[in-house]
Amino acid sequence: MSTVDRTSAAFREALDLYQNTPLLELGARADAVRHRLHPEPIVSYIVDRNINYTNVCVADCAFCAFYRRPKDNEGYVLSFEEIGAKIDECKEIGGVQILLQGGHNPYIPFDWYLELMRYIKTHHPIHIHGFSPSEVVFFSERYRMSVEEVVRQLREAGLDSIPGGGGEILVDAIRERVAKKKAQTDEWLGVQEEAHRQGMKTSVTMMYGLGESDEDRIEHMFRIREVQERTGGFTAFICWPLQPEGTAMSEYVKTDAVTYLRTLATARIVIDNIPNMQSSWVTMGLKVGQVALRFGANDFGSLMMEENVVSAAGTTHRATIAEMERAIRDAGMVPMRRRQDYSLLESDVAAVA
Ligand code: SF4
Repeated sequence: MSTVDRTSAAFREALDLYQNTPLLELGARADAVRHRLHPEPIVSYIVDRNINYTNVCVADCAFCAFYRRPKDNEGYVLSFEEIGAKIDECKEIGGVQILLQGGHNPYIPFDWYLELMRYIKTHHPIHIHGFSPSEVVFFSERYRMSVEEVVRQLREAGLDSIPGGGGEILVDAIRERVAKKKAQTDEWLGVQEEAHRQGMKTSVTMMYGLGESDEDRIEHMFRIREVQERTGGFTAFICWPLQPEGTAMSEYVKTDAVTYLRTLATARIVIDNIPNMQSSWVTMGLKVGQVALRFGANDFGSLMMEENVVSAAGTTHRATIAEMERAIRDAGMVPMRRRQDYSLLESDVAAVA
């Protein structure tokens, strides 16, 4: 049940901000919040690698071009050795974490995940940012365990933090239409709260353009803000538009750059209790990604060595580390590498000092 009162003055004010504030004024207000939270002109980014351990999935999300149904010839599960080799390649280019996510594959036993965590920590140690709340809810249902137990066992085996993937729009009427077989709003946020309770930090996302209303987008922001008030466990917020190409929602039109900037800026103002906002240049391109740095974003996300889920829809942008750093510098900021918890890497701090 949503706890957000859409008739409250705060809600109407946020909606008015989103819909009616002139674009540059909205950007300036978001930039002021960013400046209050991050006075230095630093834009952080992380070098990591997205590893999608399986593409077999039974969730059938309408917006997904990545997954394959069980028994499809193109379905795969990576071996531990393949995952280890990808980690080594990531470390070779200075990567400090892996983002480990996969489909809801009913044929993998839970012990496989625990063994994988131990295998990585023993043979290819790296920060494991893994298993979105939707996957954790799937594990809990499939293996008949509580969410608390799933998170605890994964954490004890080596999981370091949980990504905010699968958030889409945290309004059940929307989730039921586009992703009804996976975690609904309370379940999704419940995993985040449980992870925070167990001392883990997580990120949180928003994928809009699913046919939701502006009110739904604002409700999404309010729900996240509420959880953050209770737990303080979110490190960052990332939003991007639906990439409809190649999905069951291909008749949807991808929303434009102005909508992206308005959504990011409004989120920066409304969710001012989450420290970091990422610029989604991977979906919006480097130019819009640069502008986003004046609309509330203080982080350039990650230089991902591999990115399968969004790129399966065919509209992602790629860049080398040099191109990404140049884009940040051209926007008048100083690029610095960070860890998953947003602490800056010391070598970079020394280089700038
Ligand atoms: S978005 Fe994730 S959960 Fe949904 S169908 Fe794709 S792989 Fe499965």
